[in-house]
Amino acid sequence: MVTTHNLGFPRIGARRELKFALESYWKGETSREELTRKGADLRARHWRDQAALDLIPVGDFAFYDQVLDMSFTLGHLPARVRDFHGHPLDNYFRVARGRSAAGTDDHAGCCGGVAAGEMTKWFDTNYHYIVPEFDADTKFSLDPARLLEQVAEARALGVKAKPVIIGPLTYLALGKAKDGSDRLALLARLLPAYAALLAALAGQGVEWVQIDEPILVTDLDPAWRAAFAGAYKALAGCGVRLLLATYFGPLRENLDLVAALPVHGIHLDAVNAGDEVDALVRAMPADRVVSLGVVNGRNIWKTDLTAVLNWLEPVAARLGDRLWIAPSCSLLHVPVDLAGERKLDQEIKSWLAFAIQKLEEITLLARALTRGRAAVADDLARNQAAIAARRNSPRVHNPAVKQAVARIDDRLGRRQGPFALRNARQKSVLPLPLYPTTTIGSFPQTREIRLVRSAFKAGTLDLNTYQAAMRQEIERSVREQEALDLDVLVHGEAERNDMVEYFGEQLEGYAFSQAGWVQSYGSRCVKPPILFGDISRPRPMTVEWITYAQSLTPKPMKGMLTGPVTILNWSFVRDDQPRAISCFQLALAIREEVLDLEKAGIRIIQIDEAALREGLPLRRSQWADYLGWAVESFRITANGVDDATQIHTHMCYSEFNDIIAAIADMDADVITIETSRSDMDLLKAFDSFNYPNQIGPGVYDIHSPNIPTEAQIIDLMNKAAQRIPAERLWVNPDCGLKTRAWGEVIPALTSMVNAAKALRASAA
Ligand code: GLN
Ligand code: ZN
Repeated sequence: MVTTHNLGFPRIGARRELKFALESYWKGETSREELTRKGADLRARHWRDQAALDLIPVGDFAFYDQVLDMSFTLGHLPARVRDFHGHPLDNYFRVARGRSAAGTDDHAGCCGGVAAGEMTKWFDTNYHYIVPEFDADTKFSLDPARLLEQVAEARALGVKAKPVIIGPLTYLALGKAKDGSDRLALLARLLPAYAALLAALAGQGVEWVQIDEPILVTDLDPAWRAAFAGAYKALAGCGVRLLLATYFGPLRENLDLVAALPVHGIHLDAVNAGDEVDALVRAMPADRVVSLGVVNGRNIWKTDLTAVLNWLEPVAARLGDRLWIAPSCSLLHVPVDLAGERKLDQEIKSWLAFAIQKLEEITLLARALTRGRAAVADDLARNQAAIAARRNSPRVHNPAVKQAVARIDDRLGRRQGPFALRNARQKSVLPLPLYPTTTIGSFPQTREIRLVRSAFKAGTLDLNTYQAAMRQEIERSVREQEALDLDVLVHGEAERNDMVEYFGEQLEGYAFSQAGWVQSYGSRCVKPPILFGDISRPRPMTVEWITYAQSLTPKPMKGMLTGPVTILNWSFVRDDQPRAISCFQLALAIREEVLDLEKAGIRIIQIDEAALREGLPLRRSQWADYLGWAVESFRITANGVDDATQIHTHMCYSEFNDIIAAIADMDADVITIETSRSDMDLLKAFDSFNYPNQIGPGVYDIHSPNIPTEAQIIDLMNKAAQRIPAERLWVNPDCGLKTRAWGEVIPALTSMVNAAKALRASAA
């Protein structure tokens, strides 16, 4: 008998219930009790959705982030909030986002408004976690309440609970030692907290605990590898059975180490490490559970169930009861339910599977393994028909696009002149002051804007009224920016629901879900478009809006585009061709838009590559290949312009110390990056690498409602000027302002413009 289970379920809710509950709590509109109750309701519903499985994850729910939950469970809070009062949930939100609820947090006066924790990407996904902050003195003290309560809650509902926690080594690896101390040195202090946690779970009668150690699919230093054996030995006698979960890639040199750990089972991502199954089975002691991730937890395509059974049946025959099956990783990274999609093209819908459908695939596979394929013959036949239909569909294949990609050569991605020459030409057509100010593109997406856009989409608002409303919004942004005295303006992106979806909607080869939301961080969700076929651009996508915005002002207006790598990395992409090919197709399409903007008289064009870094493979040995095609794709997109046209690019959360050469290779005239939360730490990259072009290190953390002061911004810019000559510095926020309110944006940008003016004055 094969055991079915799941590593984690999306917690945001099929209709983003968690998002709305959180945001209304933060606004002070609902009570903490209501928020807590909504959390419990969601957990109960999600457990019901997984009821067909033999073991169901508990503890994968989080109000903001599972890593931050783990920090609280381990009693490990940043020093700056350790003495805070009030309810732990409010403290939790203070660490997550700088403050808790408006109005209802009784301690907002004494404890509100702290620096929010730094966020970074969860491995190579688009999920951001709150980075644990360590120093040499870090101590841990277990607070198992949250997990124990959720286990009790699950039990009361008859759920076959398998608590999920982040393993000690991954937890340490995910954090940052602010004082540069060795995180691994904290392991001895950390393990007793884990041991006590496992013992507490055992005390509740828990049999299996899933302990996630995804760092085992990354390149590890010898000391980290060596630490695993001792750490798991220390946890071995805690009264629960441990299923050590690895995912997102193959184990490679860590395989033997993993196989030898004193745990009761190992989960392997068989989608990405299918060729390691045999080696792992052979290397593991004969009494251990082997859990195989056989359904891709990262994409939305139906699994080819027959293909899986072809290789899985012999494995099942060999392992018998020791075989467990599950999705490859937590389903946090896919939308909840395909059944709710009413508008999705029927043909394309028949090719897809969201979280609930993926779990159905798991149970179907289990039935085929236990009772034989004949028992599920109809289901298998339907699945095969869908797989074949997709493979052969003329909607997927466009010969002209394939030919254009085949014709790509070096010249396509090369600017006419070197930066120095371009810079001089750009200076003569664009007179800008020292420390020029700009923003990253979007302005607040107000309720009114969203209402207008959704009414237009629903067909209840006609095109003219819609366009007039958007023009009015663009005009408002332009007037505000003129009043603020910013130097390079943007149109504000009112017409864009999302920086990727907006382009996907206008490109051929893309499909859209109505509710395919995936959590990005906290309450923020994205709805990745589905890249299913060869990509082409039937007509200009942004030119009308940008030229309208430019017509309103004598100041330079930036054209605003999303780059091919980011579109790719933030889409659900094809699994039937290499990512590089999909990326080149996107590059050729966006290049046409760049050239059309230039033709329309736009002199500055920003091509956002917010997600370039997150596409980096987890293994360094694969970086060069990825960066090669990613950088080339950007260059194909951007570099067809005249030397006088200024190309900007923007990247968020780009800890790019280790890829700075590739970024310089993109050859953008100006790059704007996220830096303010890390106190300009990111600029350390410039100590050893002489970045040749202009750069705008973000000085306003747009992910927090806190307003930066002029003095703070001057301080950050002075730090930047120690590393980069002032002539090459820009002053701008970390990222777009769409999630902020005008009431925050105006004072923050006022501080920013005043800071730039003060810096100019002191340079003069
Ligand atoms: N231009 C986009 C905006 O301002 C960039 C967003 C991003 O980098 N995530 O919204
Ligand atoms: Zn950004």
